[in-house]
Amino acid sequence: MKRVADHLSDILETIRPLPALDVHLLDAHGCVLTEDVVAPWPLPQFDNSAMDGYAVLADDVSDATEESPVELPVVADIAAGDLDVSAISSGLCARIMTGAPMPAGADAVVPVEQTDGGTARVRIMAPAKLGAHVRHAGEDVSAGDAVLGAGTYIGAPQVGLLAAIGRDRVVVRPKPRVVVISTGSELVEPGNPVSLGQITDSNSFTLTAAAREAGAIAYRIPPIPDDPDRLLGLIEDQLVRADLVITTGGVSAGAYDVVKEVLSRLGTVAFEKVAMQPGKPQGFGTVGEENTPIFTLPGNPVSAFVSFEVFVRPAIRKMFGAARLHRQSVKAVLQQTMRSPEGKRQFARARLQPSSDGSYLVTPLGTQESHRLGDLAYANSLIVVPEHVTEVTAGQVVDAMRLENRKD
Ligand code: AMP
Ligand code: MG
Repeated sequence: MKRVADHLSDILETIRPLPALDVHLLDAHGCVLTEDVVAPWPLPQFDNSAMDGYAVLADDVSDATEESPVELPVVADIAAGDLDVSAISSGLCARIMTGAPMPAGADAVVPVEQTDGGTARVRIMAPAKLGAHVRHAGEDVSAGDAVLGAGTYIGAPQVGLLAAIGRDRVVVRPKPRVVVISTGSELVEPGNPVSLGQITDSNSFTLTAAAREAGAIAYRIPPIPDDPDRLLGLIEDQLVRADLVITTGGVSAGAYDVVKEVLSRLGTVAFEKVAMQPGKPQGFGTVGEENTPIFTLPGNPVSAFVSFEVFVRPAIRKMFGAARLHRQSVKAVLQQTMRSPEGKRQFARARLQPSSDGSYLVTPLGTQESHRLGDLAYANSLIVVPEHVTEVTAGQVVDAMRLENRKD
């Protein structure tokens, strides 16, 4: 049997990052930047008011108090978006709104709350320090600053910063388009009646959601029966829009294991037994003219999910250029003795919790059989037990792979 680490490194050797693409700003959300972005102008672009109030010369109001306010004529009313703003000089002030350009000459803003709010004349009841409530041009970002570097994951704040410096397009690695196909004549779409002997297709939902959580654009195909011609036709049809294909089911040693049957004929997918539990039967290779990577995952729901986590997720993340390919792993104190099969790497569903001293505690869940979805949905981590270990006792420290949903 092939070792997990060898299978993963073979996969990652084949997988190439997608070519960079110039995309519209919102389409860059969730992608990794491949250019260094330089600000063409400063932020803020001009001195502006941080408050609704009055633009003044600080010197004019230095003696203002509630008991003896300083009264000034209001010579202008400046709103956000005003373009022609006249200067003021000593003895004058201008009513000003948040975000409006400061009039030349003024060097502070008195918030409206510290005045009587007058429109022709205003009584100012507190002094203002030089520069008070003024946002100065360039104090946030200078023109020419490299604001975001190649390799940065573009989340919501990064999209906002790019917009603020006027970018409507950026160059990123696009999100891989992943097509998920489940096979099995027993499978029914959820929402439809299920006869005895049938089950609803859950794997394609799990894997589509998991691919999206990994950062991909994932398309789910309704399940198809164990019919070689239909499977082959479907894969061919889907290749036009797929950067990566995932199938589930049909790779065991049984009759009607169509995925294996069909793809073996093409000769570009290797079907292997990988020394892991769950998830032993694994297939990986490429199909079609563009050598699109394809993963053929086992049908048992937990095997499919664990295989995705261990092999497919890092591949997707390599395709879109993510800095971190792998799930975060933490050391945790095992709460319950567990056995592990000799010679296989075990990925055991588990519940991880922080303890009061900052370390982690981890408890394996249930029987670890690979059809049990209830425990999988409750798990927030997988305990990883190395190949040569057959028993880990309570109190020992183990590695736990966290299944949290982070994309960067
Ligand atoms: P297979 O790998 O096709 O032999 O399937 C192994 C087991 O997983 C069988 O019990 C199948 O019914 C089950 N299974 C296969 N595909 C799915 C699926 N898409 N959703 C839920 N269970 C599945
Ligand atoms: Mg099947």
